Amino acid sequence: MTEFRQYNLAGVMGWPVAHSRSPMIHGYWIDHYGLSGAYVLLPVAPERLANALRGLAALGFAGCNVTIPHKVPAMHLVDRVDAFARRIGAINTIVVERDGTLSGYNNDGFGYVQSLCDAKPGWRADVGPIVVLGAGGAARAVVATLADADAREIRLLNRTPQHALDIAQAVGAVVKAMPWESRNDALADAALLVNTTSQGMSGQPPLDISLAALPQHALVSDVIYVPLETPLLAAARARGNTTVNGLGMLLNQARPAFKAWFGVMPEITPELRRRIAATF
Ligand code: NAP
Repeated sequence: MTEFRQYNLAGVMGWPVAHSRSPMIHGYWIDHYGLSGAYVLLPVAPERLANALRGLAALGFAGCNVTIPHKVPAMHLVDRVDAFARRIGAINTIVVERDGTLSGYNNDGFGYVQSLCDAKPGWRADVGPIVVLGAGGAARAVVATLADADAREIRLLNRTPQHALDIAQAVGAVVKAMPWESRNDALADAALLVNTTSQGMSGQPPLDISLAALPQHALVSDVIYVPLETPLLAAARARGNTTVNGLGMLLNQARPAFKAWFGVMPEITPELRRRIAATF
């Protein structure tokens, strides 16, 4: 049988997908490392997802990213899902294996934790209590990765309590689901605050929270990257906290996928960061 993957071809499958920065990120690395290949937009409507995924191997793709609204359905269409992605319940990366079968992964959590380490070298998840706001898809990846990185206590607060309880049940006793109304008090003695809600995103109202109880040494991060500085990060910076925006997560989650498809673990150069930031 003809071997698959004769050419370095990858892409991002979503609907809509035109706004994705992934072609720019992977395209930059393809040029930077002098590789032959391409990373393209793959606009695929939900009803065509199964056929599109089945076609990847025949088209010679090394794999693809999957984004909204395919992250959950794609998990049920690939041949195998790595244990971490199964725990999260969603995939964002697909690798076409040499025999043409598809493997699914989720690199969002890796991207998040790596972005903290980039911003604060030597950062560790076990330095103190962590407060996570929100319990959607991004929160699932962030909470599971922080737990795997030996976090001692993760306080999880969400507008809809059941979503926080679901994550606590899936991840384990280190996660304490708390009422959304207690978010101001939950910040006392926290070492890390992370916003994974959509509040503060461009077009959305700011997150409704007071940082008064948050220690000044706490790291404050937001997974949102449009805008690069959300009202939460601006308020945290103004009172002296170190802040980390969502751009580092976006860039870092792309690295293991690039390695799987193109064989090089790519670096985030200042130029790449600048180029992507300039698009927001
Ligand atoms: P999602 O699954 O739709 O979850 C949205 C979360 O926001 C839920 O917890 C939701 O609470 C909460 N929320 C929505 N409106 C709210 C309000 N008015 N007050 C309080 N909470 C509210 O979305 P997601 O995929 O997790 O994405 C969330 C954010 O992360 C987006 O801004 C996205 O762009 C960003 N993101 C960034 C990266 C990156 O690489 N940097 C990766 C993934 C996502 P309920 O459960 O009560 O609805």
